[in-house]
Amino acid sequence: MKGIAKQMQSLTNRNKQVDRSPMTFLERTYLWNIAKGMMITLRHLFKKKATIQYPEQKREFSRVWRGLHVLNRDEEGRERCTACGLCAVACPAEAITMEAAEREIGEENLYREEKYAAKYEINMLRCIFCGLCEEACPKDAIYLSETVTPADYARKKFIYSKEDLLIPNPVTESEAYAKAKGLQPNENRLVGKL
Ligand code: SF4
Ligand code: SF4
Repeated sequence: MKGIAKQMQSLTNRNKQVDRSPMTFLERTYLWNIAKGMMITLRHLFKKKATIQYPEQKREFSRVWRGLHVLNRDEEGRERCTACGLCAVACPAEAITMEAAEREIGEENLYREEKYAAKYEINMLRCIFCGLCEEACPKDAIYLSETVTPADYARKKFIYSKEDLLIPNPVTESEAYAKAKGLQPNENRLVGKL
């Protein structure tokens, strides 16, 4: 057996000889090792902190960051979505479902096109926030905002309905609309350009 053990070689050459000589008195007190540990701790006290006090402090998002979806309205407050289904087709996670309906006479102030989404749902548990739905939309009806999707314990809370996603009406709820868009109150005039 001894002969076999002598022939065995390390595969990595990273093995180290263990020093088994008895510890000195100073080594047995561990003072030097404790001092070394404290020096590392002290060094980190004066370094720039990697953490922040969330939620009081928030980091700036990257310019390409994508958050919760918003269903957009036009400058007259009408829903832009025409339930064409292109966003659902483009979605790689199959997270979007919708039901189309015909606009009735007298509903021209509610829906921009003759067809609209009577039901529109996004399953946020499936969504990977790729933004392809936004790119596919020919009506500028959906975009990914800078709002973080809130955490929850119940899976069903992550199915966002049209009511959850629709932006407030810029005509009747101008303040809520500006807040949703991240605008200052006097910036409402930009509505048509956004
Ligand atoms: S962001 Fe991507 S994954 Fe999420 S709903 Fe849109 S297309 Fe689907
Ligand atoms: S959000 Fe855009 S792409 Fe999706 S159904 Fe509505 S109009 Fe079509």
